[in-house]
Amino acid sequence: MNLITSAWIPVIYQDGTKGLIAPWKIAERENPVIEINAPRADFQGGLYQFLIGLLQTSFAPEDEDQWLEYWEETASINELKESFEKLAFAFELDNSEGVAFLQDYDLPEGESKHISALLIEAPGANALKNNSDHFVKRDLANQLCSGCAATALFTLQANAPAGGVGHRVGLRGGGPLTTLLLPENKKATLWQKLWLNVLNQEEMESAEIMDARVLPWLSKTRLSDKSGVITTPETVHPLQQYWGMPRRIRLTTKVENESCDLCGNHSKHLYTEFITKNYGVNYDGAWEHPLTPYRFDIKNKELPLSLKGQQGGLGYRHWLGMALQDSENGDKAARIVQLYNEERGSNFEMDSASLWCFGYDMDNMKARCWYESHFPVFYLDEKQKNNLMGWGAEFINPAREVVKTLRSQVKEAWFRRPKDVKGDMSHIDMQFWQATETDFYKILQQLAMLSGDAGMAPAEFYQTWLKCLEKQTRLVFETATLESTPEDLDLKRIIAAQNDLWKKFYGNKAIKTLKLRATPEEKET
Ligand SMILES: [Zn+2]
Repeated sequence: MNLITSAWIPVIYQDGTKGLIAPWKIAERENPVIEINAPRADFQGGLYQFLIGLLQTSFAPEDEDQWLEYWEETASINELKESFEKLAFAFELDNSEGVAFLQDYDLPEGESKHISALLIEAPGANALKNNSDHFVKRDLANQLCSGCAATALFTLQANAPAGGVGHRVGLRGGGPLTTLLLPENKKATLWQKLWLNVLNQEEMESAEIMDARVLPWLSKTRLSDKSGVITTPETVHPLQQYWGMPRRIRLTTKVENESCDLCGNHSKHLYTEFITKNYGVNYDGAWEHPLTPYRFDIKNKELPLSLKGQQGGLGYRHWLGMALQDSENGDKAARIVQLYNEERGSNFEMDSASLWCFGYDMDNMKARCWYESHFPVFYLDEKQKNNLMGWGAEFINPAREVVKTLRSQVKEAWFRRPKDVKGDMSHIDMQFWQATETDFYKILQQLAMLSGDAGMAPAEFYQTWLKCLEKQTRLVFETATLESTPEDLDLKRIIAAQNDLWKKFYGNKAIKTLKLRATPEEKET
């Protein structure tokens, strides 16, 4: 199957019907495609990035003016088809040898693996042996249609976690976060959703020749064994970031005329196995993928480190680092988001786009969980940007402190000897973050509209936030402690823990500062 000319991407049209399309059909104007309809959450993110990569590689606008033209009017099907077709030679999924999409150019033999091992939550050999893959249905994906195999391949190469000796991690590290801008308009077309994430050629150099510097599977792999090399931004084309290929893979065994175990579609050919070998492309150096936020530690001359999914999920406590810049820990929004913050967003009303963040929470070779979340994103002038960076921290930091106190006091209330208990308390954190989220974003929205010199935000915002933290701390604590089973219920212990909670709450430095900011007149007297 050719991934440019065949219809294989599952989508939903404006009139609600579903179907499979060839990539250039995203420009369909009558009854346009409005969404991707992938059978798995990680595939949804993978297909978005596949299409963004295609647009970036073969249809990138020259500058912001041209970007805007295509934002206002979708490209014509013919011009898009013509551009994409120039890549068709590289996007054949199935070839007995030589060029095959995201597969090693020259891999006659390798370790044979079951096709389900292409899926990231599939357990490694170790987990199979220990039978510890309790949340993984490993028997579910025995045969994949070409579309699902291609998507699994792309998703694995983009997110590849550590895979044992010489099995390389993805260009952005294992399990990076991806942040994509999405229009808030419910009627937005898939074209608009993708186009919002395409850089102009001033931001991302285009390629005159389509060779292995851009698409690494077009010739022999840059091997990373003993006599091999590392692959840095200086050694290949920047567009390779969209097509990273850390794993040497070749799809092999097929069965005929069956149904795909993931999407259910009947297919002529289905994949059941692939072969793989270690020491593929070893990405190293200062990569900064345009769709991923990074942590910068310039003082210690560390390489930029992609932000990863983490236990406890994504919430407003990560907002600064993913949507703007967190000066405290060095986290900085992805390049595509920076462009929106500084320039592209000026074409839009407030609230007209949001940030869709997603990624796995990886525990080394295994995926613990898949997270996704939506965040507000703003167009800001320099002053507003500085204001919001400072203010954001002033609001997030006290919440970070409160959640620690809350968690430990719930534990005090629950257990006679809390220090000896090693239970997972992360659900308390989650409840608190969720309960305070709406108020945080309400405040943030209003703060983003203020202009003027950086300084303190108006006192009423701090007051509202302090009240919110007090109220939600009380509610989460009460709910958590009242849920205890009767035989454990020791009212005296709960009350003591509650008294301590408030002592610690008001004694906390960050809360004291917040309180001062909330009542500036008291500061003066
Ligand atoms: Zn399928």
